[in-house]
Amino acid sequence: QAVVNRIAAGEIIHRAANALKELIENSLDAGATNIQILIKEGGLKLLQIQDNGHGIQQEDLPIVCERFTTSKLKTFDDLTSIQTYGFRGEALASISHIAHVTITSRTTASNCAYRAKYSDGHLVPIKPGAASEPRPCAGNVGTQITVEDLFYNVPFRRNAFKNTSEEYNRILDIVNRYSIHNTGVSFTCKKLGTATADLHTATSASTVNVIGQIYGSQVSTHLVKLECQDNSLQFKVKGYVSNANYSVKKTTFILFINHRLVDNNALRRGVETVYGTMLPKGAHPFVYLDLALAPENVDVNVHPTKREVHFLNEDQIVAALIEQLQAILASTTE
Ligand code: ADP
Ligand code: MG
Repeated sequence: QAVVNRIAAGEIIHRAANALKELIENSLDAGATNIQILIKEGGLKLLQIQDNGHGIQQEDLPIVCERFTTSKLKTFDDLTSIQTYGFRGEALASISHIAHVTITSRTTASNCAYRAKYSDGHLVPIKPGAASEPRPCAGNVGTQITVEDLFYNVPFRRNAFKNTSEEYNRILDIVNRYSIHNTGVSFTCKKLGTATADLHTATSASTVNVIGQIYGSQVSTHLVKLECQDNSLQFKVKGYVSNANYSVKKTTFILFINHRLVDNNALRRGVETVYGTMLPKGAHPFVYLDLALAPENVDVNVHPTKREVHFLNEDQIVAALIEQLQAILASTTE
């Protein structure tokens, strides 16, 4: 059974960046306003995330790495939502099958933190010979999750990552995107042992500030705001896109649907087509879209390897978005 679980977990978590995305979403779900990420060897040796969210209660620590353990379904009162609520309660479980996981967490109600270690979904002793139970320790309110030796027991996957700096870049890209989408949350991302962080955002920074910090002020000063909603199609969109007179170095398409980082091919292609007709040949757009859909029309809790999301009335919604984009870009080319 352990081998089956490990293979299944290896299918879910393909690389360190997949694991980190799940951990960031958990921190955001916990209401964190400060998220600090520390990486060693592209996340394969160490992937650590510290947040100041609401924490995990001592009595929940023994089960958080068991499959289908989730505290997040109660927010849905109707059954249709639950049925479409895809990947739930599987992230920590999967990670614990393919890495050594340590969680230290404290809630506001508790006067100390508790630390627990996991393997294959279950608690293991913190130290050899100790009991398999959470141990009290010092710590701030919030949660620290340490993932060590990712894929230690899946050698073919571990060996696929020769270039750990490429893996680090994928991680940093994920953190960058979440920081653009979550103003009001301070994100830090750095490599273990380096003095300066590769990303450090302030809680007070605006979306445009954060985009400028990451992609450069050349990009952020050429952005236009896109904002619209349609009550019959049940969508609302907000975003920043590069204007039709400016090209970024590399096409950047950042799409959040209901606060999850996802992809949608139809929308991506539509966006590329619109810019293709307006930008000179070889020029690239920057597009960040925050799309809100009625929860029952989309399941954003996609399997970590499948970023692609589909939703109800997709054709009409994409067409409406593209039309908006076209109008806004046209108004900037004088
Ligand atoms: P899901 O997020 O789908 O519920 P996960 O496996 O990602 O499943 O997490 C399992 C549970 O562990 C969550 O439902 C939550 O209760 C708890 N949890 C995980 N990470 C955190 C965190 N950073 N802060 C507070 N609780 C957390
Ligand atoms: Mg989760």
